[in-house]
Amino acid sequence: MTTNQPPPLQGYNLFDADAPLREAVEREGGAWAFDMLSELGALAGTEEAIDWGFQANANPPRLRTHNRFGDRVDEVEFHPAWHRLMEVAIGHGLHALPWREPRPGAHAARAAAFHVWSQVEGGHGCPVSMTYAAVPALHQQPELAAQWQPRMTTLDYDFGLRPPATKKGVLFGMAMTERQGGSDVRANTTRAEPADGDAYRITGAKWFCSAPMCDAFLVLAQAPGGLSSFLMPRVLDDGTRNGFHIQRLKDKLGNRSNASSEVEFDRAWALMVGEEGRGIRTILEMVNHTRLDCVIGSASLMRQAVAQATHHAANRSAFGRLLSEQPLMVNVLADLAVESEATTLLMMRIASAFDRATDPHEAAFKRLALAVAKYWTCKRAIAVVAEALECLGGNGYVEESILPRLYREAPLNSIWEGSGNVNALDVLRAMSREPESLAAFRAEIAKGRGQDRRFDDAVTQLDRLLDRKEISESSARSIVEKMAIAIEASLLIRYGDSNVADAFCASRLDGGSRMFGTLDEEGLRLSEIVERHRPYI
Ligand SMILES: Cc1cc2nc3c(=O)[nH]c(=O)nc-3n(C[C@H](O)[C@H](O)[C@H](O)COP(=O)(O)OP(=O)(O)OC[C@H]3O[C@@H](n4cnc5c(N)ncnc54)[C@H](O)[C@@H]3O)c2cc1C
Repeated sequence: MTTNQPPPLQGYNLFDADAPLREAVEREGGAWAFDMLSELGALAGTEEAIDWGFQANANPPRLRTHNRFGDRVDEVEFHPAWHRLMEVAIGHGLHALPWREPRPGAHAARAAAFHVWSQVEGGHGCPVSMTYAAVPALHQQPELAAQWQPRMTTLDYDFGLRPPATKKGVLFGMAMTERQGGSDVRANTTRAEPADGDAYRITGAKWFCSAPMCDAFLVLAQAPGGLSSFLMPRVLDDGTRNGFHIQRLKDKLGNRSNASSEVEFDRAWALMVGEEGRGIRTILEMVNHTRLDCVIGSASLMRQAVAQATHHAANRSAFGRLLSEQPLMVNVLADLAVESEATTLLMMRIASAFDRATDPHEAAFKRLALAVAKYWTCKRAIAVVAEALECLGGNGYVEESILPRLYREAPLNSIWEGSGNVNALDVLRAMSREPESLAAFRAEIAKGRGQDRRFDDAVTQLDRLLDRKEISESSARSIVEKMAIAIEASLLIRYGDSNVADAFCASRLDGGSRMFGTLDEEGLRLSEIVERHRPYI
C-alpha cells in the first residue's frame, strides 16, 4: 500500500475553488455568467476532461498532404480527445461569448471561462482564441462580417474541410509570419494580385500558421497598394480546395496538441479586409484580442501550477510534517499565490476594459495596459510554473503530474502575438504616440494611492521616470516591468485580499531581483494566503 503520495487533483470545481477569479468576475460585471462558469469549472475538474488533455498531447496531430489517388488534401488529423476539448470550448462560447451576448461583463465572463478551461489543456485554446479575435478585425469589412460572423459565433464545433456555407460553425486562424520576418511583418513578400471581381490571388509562403485546419484565415500579403489583410477560406463555395498547401507541421517544444504549420499559397483565392495598404492596422484588431488571451493563458497556467503545488504540499509529508506546515515551503507557496492573484486581477481588469471600450478612458487604458500585461504576465508565468514544479519534487518532473506540460507551454505566450522585446517597445510607442493611453494608465495606478506608503513611494518614483521626455529603447523592459508591478499593486490594494496585497507591496515594489519564497514573514499571514489559493477537493 503506497503512502504519502497525494491523491490526484481532480473532482473539484476550478471556478468555484478560485476565490480571486470569482471575486473579479463579480466586480467586473460578469456575475450573470456564474452558472455557466461553475458548470464549466466542474467539468474541468473531472477525471475525464483531465484525461482529454493528456490524450490530446500524447497523440499530437498528423498532417495528411495527399489522398490515396495522389491529390493534395492538406488535412490535419486529430485524436478524438482534441475534438472533445474543442466541443466544450466552442459549446461554452469561449470563441464568441461577447459577440453572441454583447452585454456588460461579457468579455470578463469569457476571460474567466477561457481561464478555467485552459487549465485542462492549453493547445486547443489557439484556434478558439483566433476565432474570437478575428470577429472585430472582420468588422472593418462589414459585408464580410455579415457573411461570416453568424457561423463564427455558433456553439457548434463542426470539424472538417467543407464549403463554409454548408457548415454549422467555422473557425479562423491567421497567417502573418514569414521566414524572413515575424516581428517585422513589413518584410512580408507574399503577393496579392487582383483577380476576378473583388477577389485576389495570393502567392507566397508563411513560416508559422497555427491551426491550419481552420475554415478561413486572415492573411497579410503585398497588394499593389501595399501590405494588406485578406480573408482566405480553405474551401471555396463550389467545394474545391483553395490553393492553401500545408508543407509540414512544426515539431514544437510544447503546445503539442495543436497543429502549427508551414504553408504555401498557390494563387489562393482571397478577399481584402479593410483598406488596401493598411493591412497591419486591420490585423492588429485581431492581434489585440489574441494578446488578451496570452495574458489570460498565462494567468491560467499560473493558477493551475499553484493549484497543483498547494494541493501537493497539503498532502505530502517530509521530515515528520506536511510540506504545507514547513515554514519555508509555506513561504514559497504564498509567494507563488501572490503572483497568481496579481495576474488574475490584472487580466480581469483588462478584459473589463474590452467590455467598456466605448468609454475613452477605458479604451486608452486598454491600449497601454494590454501591452504592459502581455510583456509581464507571460514572463512571470514561466518563473511561476518552474517554481511550482519544484514544489512537487521529483513528481513534478514527471509528465503525469501535468507540470511538465505547463512548463513547456509557458514560454509560448511570450513569443507569439509580439515577443517580449516587441511588446516592451510597443509600450514605448504607445506612450509617445498616444499620450492619452499613458495618462489613463497612470490615473488607474493612482487610484491605489493613500493606503500603503510603500506603494505611494514606488508610484512617486515611477512618475519621475515616466515624466522623462526620452525613454531609450534599451530601457524598455526595465520601465515596463515597473509599470506592470505598479498596476498590479494598485489593483491588489483596491480589490485583492488585504494579506496578498500586503505581501505583494512588501516584496515586489523595490524592483530588486529575487526568488519565490523570499517573503519577509514579519506581519504577513502566509499560511492564510496559501489556504486562499489551495483548491479543496
Ligand atoms: C508555436 C507557434 C505558433 C505560431 N503561430 C503563428 C500563427 O498562427 N500565425 C502567425 O502569423 N505567426 C505564428 N507564430 C509566429 C510568431 O508570431 C513569431 O514567431 C513571433 O512573432 C516572432 O517572430 P520571429 O519568429 O520572426 O522572430 P524575430 O522577429 O526574428 O524576433 C527574434 C527575437 O528578436 C526580438 N526582436 C525583434 N525585433 C526587435 C527589436 N526591434 N528590438 C529588440 N528585439 C527585437 C524578438 O522579441 C525576438 O525575441 C507562431 C509561433 C510559434 C512559436
